[in-house]
Amino acid sequence: MNAPPNASRTILITGGARGIGAASARLLAEKGARVLVTDILDGEGESLAAQIGERAAYHRLDVSSEQGWADAIARCEDLFGRIDGLFNNAGILAHGSVTECSPEEFRRVVEINLTGIFLGIRAAAPALRRAGGGTIVNTSSIAGMQGYARLCAYVASKWAIRGLTKSAALDLAGDGIRVVSLHPGPIRTPMTEDMPEKVAANQPIARFGEAEEVARMVRFLFSEASYSTGCEFVIDGGALAGTCLPL
Ligand code: NAD
Repeated sequence: MNAPPNASRTILITGGARGIGAASARLLAEKGARVLVTDILDGEGESLAAQIGERAAYHRLDVSSEQGWADAIARCEDLFGRIDGLFNNAGILAHGSVTECSPEEFRRVVEINLTGIFLGIRAAAPALRRAGGGTIVNTSSIAGMQGYARLCAYVASKWAIRGLTKSAALDLAGDGIRVVSLHPGPIRTPMTEDMPEKVAANQPIARFGEAEEVARMVRFLFSEASYSTGCEFVIDGGALAGTCLPL
């Protein structure tokens, strides 16, 4: 592959065993990157890495573990000699309104969706500097751009990722590290398998997106988006474009 000079060649993906992470691992490897797939689903992760072949490996990483992050970055450098891309994709969805969600559940969602990204950026930044710069893509959601009833912990965590992304972009720009956030709308993955098709019925592109469609944007962010940092990339079938009034 003839990559642009700042293209990420070795990418660590969190939550990479299935869904958007797995589709991205497949596409990035197909286009020439080496990928360290990480997750807590060891069976799925091992089998995905085996399917991809020599360009991929699997490593267990719970994103809420600081030690886990140190080990994962070290494994990536051991295996591939460097890391120049980090896809902070792991996340969990939790249902519950602001009065139904327990404090424990709220903390758990924030710990994985938000603190997990903070720990990842913190652990990866020195290694990205060693590689001469790189790219960090943080997965938020369109739930990081508007509210949703009965998803308060998820929405709060996804909004906070935007602020973290902008701060990290400012902090790391001098090291040649770009940091952007990704905002998918409804995408068909194991996370949304129980959601009815009507969830997407009122948006301009009235269907769920596919994980492969998100993967193509992810690849762009790691390989071509050399003048973008601290900003937001939406892939939502037009869901945020507005509301059609029954006039
Ligand atoms: P998914 O559930 O298929 O994949 C999420 C992955 O994260 C799983 O493999 C899971 O094992 C992993 N994970 C969960 N907790 C973890 C932890 N503590 N440490 C490491 N890995 C962990 O869901 P997906 O739809 O592929 O979601 C990927 C990302 O995209 C998530 O951050 C999600 O919030 C976001 N997102 C998804 C949608 C959608 O409609 N599917 C929309 C907007 C944003």
